Amino acid sequence: MKTLNLHTDYIKFKPLKKALKSMEPLSDLEKEEKHVENALAVLTAVEKGDENVEGVVGELINSIKDIAKQLDVSNIVLYPYAHLSSDLAPPNVAIEVLNLAEKLLKKENFNVHKAPFGYYKEFEMKVKGHPLSELSRSIKVKGNEVEEKYDPQQLLREISKSKLDTSKLKDNDHRILGKQMDLFSFNEVAPGMVFWHNNGLIIKDELVNFWKEEHRKAGYQLIETPQILDEKLWKISGHWEKYKENIFLSEYEGRSFAVKPMNCPGGMLVYKNSPKSYKDLPLRVGELGVVHRQELSGVLAGLFRVIKFTQDDAHIFCDESQIEGEVGLIIDMINLFFSKFNFEFDHVELSTRPEKRIGDDKIWDKAEKALENVLKKRKMKYQINKGDGAFYGPKIDFHAKDSQGRTWQLSTIQLDFAMPERFELEYVDKDNKKKRPIMLHRVIYGSLERFIGVLLESTNGRLPTWLAPMQVRVLNFTERNENYAKEVIKKLGDGIPNLRIDADFRSNTVPSKVKEAELMKVPYVIVVGDKEEKEKSLAVRVRGSNKIQNFGLDEFISKIKKEIEDRN
Ligand SMILES: [Zn+2]
Repeated sequence: MKTLNLHTDYIKFKPLKKALKSMEPLSDLEKEEKHVENALAVLTAVEKGDENVEGVVGELINSIKDIAKQLDVSNIVLYPYAHLSSDLAPPNVAIEVLNLAEKLLKKENFNVHKAPFGYYKEFEMKVKGHPLSELSRSIKVKGNEVEEKYDPQQLLREISKSKLDTSKLKDNDHRILGKQMDLFSFNEVAPGMVFWHNNGLIIKDELVNFWKEEHRKAGYQLIETPQILDEKLWKISGHWEKYKENIFLSEYEGRSFAVKPMNCPGGMLVYKNSPKSYKDLPLRVGELGVVHRQELSGVLAGLFRVIKFTQDDAHIFCDESQIEGEVGLIIDMINLFFSKFNFEFDHVELSTRPEKRIGDDKIWDKAEKALENVLKKRKMKYQINKGDGAFYGPKIDFHAKDSQGRTWQLSTIQLDFAMPERFELEYVDKDNKKKRPIMLHRVIYGSLERFIGVLLESTNGRLPTWLAPMQVRVLNFTERNENYAKEVIKKLGDGIPNLRIDADFRSNTVPSKVKEAELMKVPYVIVVGDKEEKEKSLAVRVRGSNKIQNFGLDEFISKIKKEIEDRN
């Protein structure tokens, strides 16, 4: 059963007429209006599953005694209130529960009033304002739950089975690299959701840091919005009609919630949180939001198609005249990121108005023209996908080519006339009139997860030093070089804050230790032997080459320090 416990200054109630035909007529006394001062009003709804009346009432009495003691009240009003539940017990069970509760509370020396069950009643009360004055409780009989039968050991054996089948994968498949470099794993208990290991999380965090730095520099505000939001919001945004089957649903206190499949609706609420003027535009708001989208588990493929991912989203609110400029700035940003990761622009696709669409044709004209103008001015190679735009606006997709000549669709810019309309976004223009902003959605990485997969495959795991989970590894030739090796590690660590450096002092041969470092794709392997110790120098093996280069300690420090700082 459900109860709502209200600490009142007073409660007044009076039965009016039968709500259920089967109810016995009330006595004259029962028909009178009751007025109880300083009372704990216990609103109750007896539910299906409460058939163990004695058990339920026992728990109810415990709950009431507990609350009454904290509030120091002796007047209790038991008040049937069906609206607390949508799963009510038959009336006879409810009446039995209430009668027994009345009897037992009286035995406990409470002054008990019971409002009649099955009658329409008018009531009035004044609830006190302190923190304990409104408490809702769910009353369950302990040990009365249906016992679920399962064998934890058997379940553990089942989930331990999920192993990566590498037989059909190419050597540079990111799933193989991920395992070899200990970056991430998957488990069938969370299909399409990545378990990031320490090494993989380092890469992700570095990408995030770079992204945040560049966005702050480019005048973006950064926000974070909740993970699950009331279904109301998705009805407003339109996702409920168009996208519901891909959304994970959840429930809380009888309300239906959706795990966000997109960040936009949350972002709209942040926009609406304060009045905006033309001076605030263009307003650039970024969010590295974690989204969940249901996909058929058969189509999931490592990091390339996941159910949970981090989207490097941003929304730009502007007026018509600012579209071209903003799109240009976004392309600058895409350029910056592409070149940082050695991607080239392969081509761009511009998708224009579909037959079914919202928004004035005049706005579509302007928007499409603005997008095309930017591409033309920049002499970018583009193709037009006529009619392929979303119903709410045109978009541009950016395809990158990696060093191996493979192409990847990564970044997108999408204009949106619908969302500002649905959320009634406004700003006050120069003429003091309220106007709707235009909105751009855009992603650069797309999904961090997928982007890391792309990076791994396009570099064969040989990530640039700033992204490498382990940047430097020090090996010793023999045990007698261990102290000098430790000295080297300390000096490098002092010279380069946050350097990711480790040591391999095992008694294995140097070639086998080098081979292992190569598998882990460590960019720099320093081998320390008698000669280096004597000369106070470093023999450095650069990843992917068999040549050994000699460096002075300071020389090496300044070289990789710069390399990491510049993110080269
Ligand atoms: Zn968005």
